[in-house]
Amino acid sequence: MLFTDFQLDNRLLQSLKHMGIDTPTDIQEQAIPVALAGKDLMASSKTGSGKTLAFLLPAMQRMISTRALSKRDPRVVILLPTRELATQVYSQLRLLVANTQYKAIKILGGENFNDQAKSLARDPHFIVATPGRLADHLAQHHLHLNGLELLILDEADRMLDLGFAPQLQAIHRAADHKRRQTLMFSATLDHTDINNIAAELLNSPEHVAVGAANTSHADITQHVYLCDHLDHKEAVLSRLLSQDEHKQIIIFTATRQDTGRLADKLAKQGFKTAALSGDLNQGQRNQIMDQFSRGLQKILITTDVASRGLDLLNVSLVINFDMPKFSEEYVHRIGRTGRAGSKGDAVSLVGPKDWRNFENVQQFLHKTFTLSVFDDLKPKFSGLKDKPKRTKNTSSTVKKHKKTTNNKQKSKNAPAKRDKRFLSGVDVGDAPMLRKPKSPLQDE
Ligand code: AMP
Repeated sequence: MLFTDFQLDNRLLQSLKHMGIDTPTDIQEQAIPVALAGKDLMASSKTGSGKTLAFLLPAMQRMISTRALSKRDPRVVILLPTRELATQVYSQLRLLVANTQYKAIKILGGENFNDQAKSLARDPHFIVATPGRLADHLAQHHLHLNGLELLILDEADRMLDLGFAPQLQAIHRAADHKRRQTLMFSATLDHTDINNIAAELLNSPEHVAVGAANTSHADITQHVYLCDHLDHKEAVLSRLLSQDEHKQIIIFTATRQDTGRLADKLAKQGFKTAALSGDLNQGQRNQIMDQFSRGLQKILITTDVASRGLDLLNVSLVINFDMPKFSEEYVHRIGRTGRAGSKGDAVSLVGPKDWRNFENVQQFLHKTFTLSVFDDLKPKFSGLKDKPKRTKNTSSTVKKHKKTTNNKQKSKNAPAKRDKRFLSGVDVGDAPMLRKPKSPLQDE
C-alpha cells in the first residue's frame, strides 16, 4: 500500500514526498482510513511506529476538504502530556501546513501566557498544546471550542497518569457537540482510567491496536549485564562506551542526582555528554534536546522524562543504568532506538537493587533474557532468590504473622502497577508522573 492509495490532497502527498515517506506504516494503514471516515478512534501502537502522521494526515485532510464550522474557533486541537512531545508533533505539523493557508500554534506550559493569549486571538486553525495550559486559557476565555472539529489526544495514558483528567474533561465539555471527532492514542488501552475517559470523550470509537506494548521489537537487540554494586556498574558502562560502535547513546538513571553525577563522570572521561534533569528550566531543556538531536553531543543522560515519544533518529544504543520502576517504562526507554526501521541496541545494568524491577520486566515481556558478561568484569551477583514460603503454621498468632509476611512478599514481587499509590507516592526520581509535589518537569 502507498500513501497515494488514501484519498489525500496532493499538497499532503507532496509534503510526504519531501519528507522521503511513501509507504504507510501499520498504524497509519489502519488508523488513517478510520479517521478519514470521520469516526472516533482509540488506537494503541508501539513507540516509533509513525503514529504522529497517523493523526496529522487525516487532520490536515479534514481541514482541506471540509468547510470550517466556525471562522473564529480552532478546528483541530492536539493534546500531549509533555512540552517535548508537543514540540515534536508541532514540528511535523509545520512541515504539513507549510504548503497551505492554515495556521498552527503551540500552547505549552512554562511559556509566556500573554504572548499565548495574543496568538490565540489570531484565530489559529490548529493548536498543539499541553492540557493544563490550554485549560487555563479556556477558563480565561482566550479561546472558544464550540467550532472544534477534531480533538486528538496523544499519549493519553500518560496524560491521565499526570493527573490531567480534569483538564481533558474541561476541554471536552467546551467542545461537546455532535460534529466533533475524537482520536485517542495511548501506549496501552489496557488501563481502567483510559477506558473511563474514552467512555466520556469518545463516541462509539473504532479500536486499532498495532503491536501490543509488550511484544518484542525486532529492530532492537536487548542485552543484560549483572553488576555487583555502583562501581561495577560504572566499570561496565565505561567498557560499553569505549566500544564506540554507536552514533548516539541515551543513558537512563533512576534519579536526577544520579543523572548529574554520571554526567560529570563521563565528561571527565572525555565523552561529549548532556544531562537532562528536572531542575532545568524549559529553555535549558529545549536547548539540550535541540543540541542532542543535532548531534552536538554523543551521550544524553536522563531520567524517564525522555523515555516517551522523542524522535531521535541517531540513537543506536539505550542503556538502563538503573532499571525502571514500571515495566512499561522499559519499553518506552528502549524505544528511543530502533526507530523508523533502523537497528538499535538496548543494554540493562542489573544490580541487587534492580533485581525485582528486572524480574517484572521479564514477566511483562514474557521473556527470559540471556545474560552478557565481560570476561574481566564478571559479577559475583547472580540474582536474588525468592524467600522460601512458610508452609506449616497452626496457631492463630503464627497465621496472622504469616499473612503479613505473604503480603509483603506479594507486594515485593508484584509488577509495579501504575496505580495511584505510586503516582502520589515518593521516590520516583523526577519522572513526570509525579503530581505532587509539583516538579519543575511537570508540564501544565
Ligand atoms: P512517530 O512514531 O510518529 O514518532 O514517528 C517515528 C518516526 O518515523 C518519525 O521520524 C517519522 O517521520 C517517521 N515516519 C513516520 N511515518 C513513516 C513512514 N510511513 N515511513 C517512514 N518513516 C516514517
